Amino acid sequence: MNYDQENIFAKILRNEANCIKVYEDSKVLAFMDVMPQAPGHTLVIPKFETTDLINLPDEYLDPLLKATRNIAAAIKKVYSPTGVMILQLNGEEAGQTVFHLHFHIIQRSEGLNYRFHSRDIEDTEILENEAKKIRQAIVI
Ligand code: 5GP
Repeated sequence: MNYDQENIFAKILRNEANCIKVYEDSKVLAFMDVMPQAPGHTLVIPKFETTDLINLPDEYLDPLLKATRNIAAAIKKVYSPTGVMILQLNGEEAGQTVFHLHFHIIQRSEGLNYRFHSRDIEDTEILENEAKKIRQAIVI
């Protein structure tokens, strides 16, 4: 599949669309999912145009995985879930809906209500508040 320059994450990377940032460095950007499946649902993307993990150059792998791990650790610290789910979908058949590579980080605990994937847009103020807590908990 060809990379579509107009996908929403490409626009976020070009500052043509807004996002609520959680973390950024020269190779990686992390921000709140606007339709979170659980509080704190964060997306981590490389600053490289690829639809999928398979075509990611080596130099992005380590920064992307490191940021994902560090944010997962921050989410554990903030919400104290019993589990953290890290998801990465490659291709429409795998359930991918935005075609710029991304990792989802979603807290999981028994009894916590999960929302459907890509369904309900969360209030910006709530997302800002969750992002603030996660940002403060990140240890690089
Ligand atoms: P996928 O199905 O591709 O693995 O996940 C795409 C994710 O992007 C979904 O969880 C969806 O809620 C999220 N998403 C879709 N549009 C936007 C947007 O405009 N901004 C942000 N921050 N997230 C989005």
